[in-house]
Amino acid sequence: MKRNILVALLFTGLLVANGRLVAQEDPLPLVVATTTQARDALEIVSGERIEIIGLMGAGVDPHLYRPTEADVRAMNRADAIVYSGLHLEGQFGDVLGALGERDILVVALSDPVKKAGFTIGGFTLSDAFSNVDDPHFWFDPRNWQLSIDHVAVQLALLDPAGADDYAERAADYNVQLDLLFDWASEAMAAVPQDQRVLVTSHDAFQYFGEAFDWEVRGLQGLSTEDEAGVADVQALVDFVIERDIPVLFVESSVPPNAIESVREGAAAQGHDIGVGLRELYSDAMGAPGDFGGTYVGMLAGNVSTILQSWGLPLPAWPDDLQPPLPDELVEVDAQAP
Ligand SMILES: [Zn+2]
Repeated sequence: MKRNILVALLFTGLLVANGRLVAQEDPLPLVVATTTQARDALEIVSGERIEIIGLMGAGVDPHLYRPTEADVRAMNRADAIVYSGLHLEGQFGDVLGALGERDILVVALSDPVKKAGFTIGGFTLSDAFSNVDDPHFWFDPRNWQLSIDHVAVQLALLDPAGADDYAERAADYNVQLDLLFDWASEAMAAVPQDQRVLVTSHDAFQYFGEAFDWEVRGLQGLSTEDEAGVADVQALVDFVIERDIPVLFVESSVPPNAIESVREGAAAQGHDIGVGLRELYSDAMGAPGDFGGTYVGMLAGNVSTILQSWGLPLPAWPDDLQPPLPDELVEVDAQAP
């Protein structure tokens, strides 16, 4: 009897070993991710079933990023490309179009959000793209849940044997995103209603504002060189003073000049306005391995930066939400307004 069990175990081991051997002989499907968010979504949904190449690093502006020769080579040998879409990757248009005409699966994370009618229109990306959908849809975690499900479905097309695995991982992660949304909603509601205005250097936060019931004012494109720019900056200075907004924010992928001119304008009228304790993540997440290098950490990091800059404590971090909130994001800075 004992011997039979041993034989059975050996046999099972052999199958497993054989399975591994087969898996090693078949190269894993190769999927290229354009943005840091796309890479994070792929890593979470795929487990170890695919090989992932991420093109953009931390702090890179995807609006301006031009694919390198190495990027184009990687995309040419990939089985699938996962990108954000809605013209976020402004320099990728021709490349993605050409790849789509070949036997390469091209997946836009924004597709299910657009289909569901959750995109916000009236956005201007450049002279060539005005009145388009705002591309920063991922800042509402409920939109990102649709993208996560979409990744699972698309990866299953590439690797049908993994379909159940992808679906399960996506469902598990979307429970995490529920926890994140609830935590962030509670946190962002702590700021007094009439002060809930996020003033930043770039129009990346409309979805974030809608998700958490905040007004958003961006400064991107406002030039202080011309008269209109000066008038716009002055209008924002007046607004910030009138609403008693204590703090303005700078983002990781955008130069801080414009925000500085608003601060100077307010200071000239005797109002000292602070700058966020840290930069906000806008179009790029933090470095891999850092808390902000994950979608959860990027969003929670922004919420922490906003709340701490207001001098407010954060709600308790949910036990089951990964990764855990680092201690330095929990402490309220004594210098805060
Ligand atoms: Zn942007």
